[in-house]
Amino acid sequence: MSSVPGVSEVGALDASDPLRHMRERFILPEGVIYLDGNSLGAASKAAFIELETAAKEEWAQGLIRSWNKAHWFELTQQLGDRIGRLIGAAPGETVVTDTTSTNIYKALHAALSLRPDRSVIVAEGSSFPTDLYMAEGVAATRPGTQIRLEGVNAPTIEELIDDKVAVVLVNHVNYRSGELRDMAALTRKAHDAGAIIVWDLCHSAGAMPVDLNGADADLAVGCTYKYLNGGPGAPAFLFAAKRHHQDLRQPLSGWWGHAKPFAFEQGYEADAGIRRFLCGTQPILSLRALKGALDIWDDVDMALLRQKSVELGNLFIELVEAHCGRFGVKLASPRDGTSRGSQVSFSHENSYAIMQALIERGVIGDFRAPDVMRFGFAPLYIGYHDVWNAVDALRDILETEAWREPRFAVRAAVT
Ligand SMILES: *Cc1c(COP(=O)(O)O)cnc(C)c1O
Repeated sequence: MSSVPGVSEVGALDASDPLRHMRERFILPEGVIYLDGNSLGAASKAAFIELETAAKEEWAQGLIRSWNKAHWFELTQQLGDRIGRLIGAAPGETVVTDTTSTNIYKALHAALSLRPDRSVIVAEGSSFPTDLYMAEGVAATRPGTQIRLEGVNAPTIEELIDDKVAVVLVNHVNYRSGELRDMAALTRKAHDAGAIIVWDLCHSAGAMPVDLNGADADLAVGCTYKYLNGGPGAPAFLFAAKRHHQDLRQPLSGWWGHAKPFAFEQGYEADAGIRRFLCGTQPILSLRALKGALDIWDDVDMALLRQKSVELGNLFIELVEAHCGRFGVKLASPRDGTSRGSQVSFSHENSYAIMQALIERGVIGDFRAPDVMRFGFAPLYIGYHDVWNAVDALRDILETEAWREPRFAVRAAVT
């Protein structure tokens, strides 16, 4: 017990934190400790400036001219390249467009188009559900396609990969437990069996260094509204390794993915590069908010970010176990920081009500069915003292049983 850090020690950690000044670039409400940046990242000052310029100057004054003058037409690729830098992609391999769900649909079809003689999709039973729903949607359009799930058809994903598998769809970090996959090893395993791999980076992009090309990955998708702070419903990204570009086919063959969209020709001809993954007209205001959010990342050392993320998670685990362990909360994430994303989950039979009581006190995390409290640590705006205060609030709620108040049991639509 005596080795558990106290409030003065966590204060010292903040004082020597090289990322501490990044918090000034965000707008966060007073009195809130925001531990849900893994679900919706915080608003940044830069995003607001971009939004205002895009709306008041480029839209209101520039009107249709802004497609060229303000470079709206190139935004999907420009921002794609900036995200590409954070995920180990080369220029021209990443595009920002649509939602992660839609991009999974396109990526799975594209992966299947590379392996026309195979018909199996491998995924995780514990995947974020939309990935599985989209895989079902893809399978429904291709008679004979089978889906094999880790945890259902075999205990580990590796056991499911054989020479019938066309594509492996896998979450880099599990949304519920925070467990981190070994990207290089699993990509090699898929390739050794002749399969294509699609990585879902929703919980790793902006949370840690990612090296898609270092791992020789084929395709990837991910969110921009979580750790990248693009704003609610900000468009997602899609990565495709350059070596595949000319062979990739995706089914949503809209005019924005055409080689010459403004030639207004009758037949579809895919763009030669990553733009072939676009479909229709893009949400420029959302893209501009994301542009502002990405400006911040130009100044972030991803190795430092990862180090702080692991330390915040480790500190949280240590403090929760020391101060709240006697109330029945159980760690539901890897204990080893190097195999964990930037979140920590704890389970408790009354997790929903406990989380609502925490939120009422300004400590915002979230709940994932059936019994998980999820706490995300976005190192750009969360400090060590925040972690200490969050655990103190949790301890108080458990000790006083404040969570038993009936209003905390009422389920909202979004948890
Ligand atoms: C958040 C998340 C999504 C969300 O998909 P949307 O289409 O943006 O709603 C998909 N996959 C994973 C792994 C996620 O964590």
